[in-house]
Amino acid sequence: MAGYDYELFVIGGGSGGVRGARMAAATGARVAIAESYRYGGTCVIRGCVPKKLLSYASHFHEDFEDAAGFGWTVPEPRFDWARLIASKDTEIDRLEGIYQKLLGNAGVEIFHGHARLNDAHTIEVGDRTFTAETILIATGGTPTFPMEPGWEHGISSNEAFHLKELPKRAVIAGGGFIAVEFAGIFNGLGSQVTQIYRGPQILRGFDDDVRNTLAGEIVKKGINLIVETTIDRIEKRESDLLLHLSDGSTLETDLVMAATGRKPNVENLGLEQVGVELNRRGAIKVDEYSRTTVDNIYAVGDVTDRINLTPVAIQEAMAFVDTVYRGTPRAMNHADVPSAVFSHPPVGTVGLTEIQARETYGAVDIYRSTFRPLKHTLSGRDEKTMMKLVVERAGQKVVGVHMVGLDAPEIVQGMAVAIKAGATKQIFDSTVGIHPTAAEEFVTMREPIPDATAKAAE
Ligand code: NDP
Repeated sequence: MAGYDYELFVIGGGSGGVRGARMAAATGARVAIAESYRYGGTCVIRGCVPKKLLSYASHFHEDFEDAAGFGWTVPEPRFDWARLIASKDTEIDRLEGIYQKLLGNAGVEIFHGHARLNDAHTIEVGDRTFTAETILIATGGTPTFPMEPGWEHGISSNEAFHLKELPKRAVIAGGGFIAVEFAGIFNGLGSQVTQIYRGPQILRGFDDDVRNTLAGEIVKKGINLIVETTIDRIEKRESDLLLHLSDGSTLETDLVMAATGRKPNVENLGLEQVGVELNRRGAIKVDEYSRTTVDNIYAVGDVTDRINLTPVAIQEAMAFVDTVYRGTPRAMNHADVPSAVFSHPPVGTVGLTEIQARETYGAVDIYRSTFRPLKHTLSGRDEKTMMKLVVERAGQKVVGVHMVGLDAPEIVQGMAVAIKAGATKQIFDSTVGIHPTAAEEFVTMREPIPDATAKAAE
């Protein structure tokens, strides 16, 4: 690396950037990293981790109620938002410290500040300039707001983690991961929640049985779900907000949150100047090795808008390190990436939806089971679990696993290994269940549901 300050300069200290920096340094490379906000990135600081802590908090509401069926008498529970936020902040501070320590221990030089490219090998951080042989961009994404007037009075998920108080009434716009998760959080903590989605059913892109089951369950829990509607205008009033909806009605609320998507952080990085091209969606264009249109510049994670999940960014970063620093070029495989929605009840999913499988394979066998979990036989709670296997008929390979219900993310993680391994339905059938669990249902579903599509084609 003759003449360069560093072999690798990483821009962005989130999941992908930190992993890339640490692992490259572990191979002996001289590495530096710059982050303009807080080390840990979206997932650790204002995404997955604090969101899951709030999600746990919001679950207690039902846990207290459910305990009665098991013989417990619980005094009237009281909830303190400020205490929850303080505890959450302490934990996030701790994690941020750990991230920096990991980088330091790996020998990575850490900078705080906005980094931008001057040329393909020169990076500016504040008033300092560095050179590097290779550059990894991992700047993540940021929430977007709809264009309609009045959204300056709304918040995004970024602000939701720092509200002074829990809103009495909250409106969440959107039908994706973040909207569904925050609707559940606010509802569980005691806010009156309305979720407004522009399409006919939430969680577009997920399996229809997941979408329909979850929508039914969240409505049962008290979320006012309004579909095929948008917010036309937000009016600020003296002590609250008045939302004007596309169906002509109005809605009073204390808080309105946009969960209407995120965009890649590509601004003010000097990309255009050095020739790093963007794709049509405004994300950094990369090849299968995460290389940008400039040879020595790579990009991983949400800024490339492939699959916007922390573990994907981490794997992309590992593949980058294998490719550039370990002499074993490797493309990240984006097939069969499992994911979860931490809604109440949660969703776990991996592989193809039924519709995608029909498009890909033609004939498919569908196994589906809907039941009341054992826990709720005594709690009395009216909550259903839905589990579904999508099997391509010719080869009998299981190509999709979908679940809505208690522990779905924990269960589907294991199922994802089977899907990656190409397990057939016969292998599922020959696997012994663990009893009594919900998970055993995945290895005991014997009869496919009657296939209306196949019948119609006969
Ligand atoms: P999503 O893309 O998942 O959802 C955006 C939602 O907003 C969609 O329902 C979309 O509708 C709707 N929408 C978009 N634009 C508008 C508009 N102008 N007016 C009204 N509605 C609109 O984005 P999120 O912000 O929920 O999450 C971003 C990403 O972060 C996710 O894709 C996921 O990759 C990641 N994430 C993962 C989590 C997890 O793993 N548990 C949790 C949170 C985030 P339509 O469907 O019609 O397009």
